[in-house]
Amino acid sequence: MIEFLFLLLPVAWGHGLFMGRNSIKQKDQNAKDSLTVKYSTGLNYLLSNQQDKAMEYLLEALKVEDDTVEAHFAMANLFRRRGELDRALKVHEYLVRQPMLSDKEKQQAVFELGRDFYSAGLYDRAEKLFLKLLKSKMYGCKSLTYLLHIFQSTKDWDKGIALEKAVLKSKDKKLKHVLANFYCELANIAILQDEYIKELELLQNALTLDPKSSRANFLMAQVFENSEQFNNACRCYQEIFYQDQEFFPDVIDKMQQCYQRSDNNDDFYPFIKKVFDKTGSTTALIKYLEYVELTSSKEKAEEYILSALNRRPTIRGFKHFVKMQLNDGNDDKTNKSLDVIKELVAAYLKIKPRYSCKNCGFNSTVHYWSCPSCHDWEQLKPVRGLEGE
Ligand SMILES: [Zn+2]
Repeated sequence: MIEFLFLLLPVAWGHGLFMGRNSIKQKDQNAKDSLTVKYSTGLNYLLSNQQDKAMEYLLEALKVEDDTVEAHFAMANLFRRRGELDRALKVHEYLVRQPMLSDKEKQQAVFELGRDFYSAGLYDRAEKLFLKLLKSKMYGCKSLTYLLHIFQSTKDWDKGIALEKAVLKSKDKKLKHVLANFYCELANIAILQDEYIKELELLQNALTLDPKSSRANFLMAQVFENSEQFNNACRCYQEIFYQDQEFFPDVIDKMQQCYQRSDNNDDFYPFIKKVFDKTGSTTALIKYLEYVELTSSKEKAEEYILSALNRRPTIRGFKHFVKMQLNDGNDDKTNKSLDVIKELVAAYLKIKPRYSCKNCGFNSTVHYWSCPSCHDWEQLKPVRGLEGE
């Protein structure tokens, strides 16, 4: 009897294996049926234009597996590009909840979800997600960039500065430049509250982060001027010329006022001559003409401007030339005509933008440290060419 039972063992094992396989097949079949139902329900909703319900069913049908993760990201990006942020959000939120994603995919899902919240203007939620990614090799620097964009929009300069360690670690020049401007914003507030030591510290920090920040030196000069340290202020203005020659024409008038109150007034015009020789700036030319007229004669100044305009004509230079001709021993009729020409040219220049953004081409008649269009810092420069400098 016992031998008979031993003989039956392989049969029982074989039966068990057969039944087990059948049960797995059955389960697979059931899962497939369920997927087909969800998929076709999803399609039905899609065809009847009920897109949100369609997406719900299709997300369920398209289970997140290794080979469908990319498809989910692509679908969400497509929604975002079409401006359907709520749908992009749903897909990314769904991806974030999936336990089987790799670390890299999880970070990608969190980052993309952060971008959705950022695009939707939900900055507090975007901020939380980007902060989670600061240590990520792949998304750390990108998240930092978004965080600084958020703090720039909300004017949370201190929150941005709290990320200084991460910015320094990233070694990203652009991020350092942005953070230097956060320090300048705080310095601006300190200047309004007349906190001398704090102003200098903040601006020094800005220059350490970005030694090319002309804005930091511009504010530093203002701080020195306010405390009547005119020699130091002049040094800061000079520094701006070596940092940013394009922006320098805007500094010339302030610089002159400072030189007049410093111990080095005689150094102003030679410096401006150097600026004009190097850049051909019309503002520098007009300023230098004062010196020629003062030390030589009006005729010499007229010869100088004519020669300069022949080499590099600008409308502002021409307007100044006309102004120099007024009352130059002319009769009333000539003076009246010259005055009309001068006024016409002035009216023409008034409607022309004085500044242009180097980054996005935005034009403006007034200066902004942060471009109102692309929000990049220190990119608005005086226009060059016939209608500009
Ligand atoms: Zn711009």
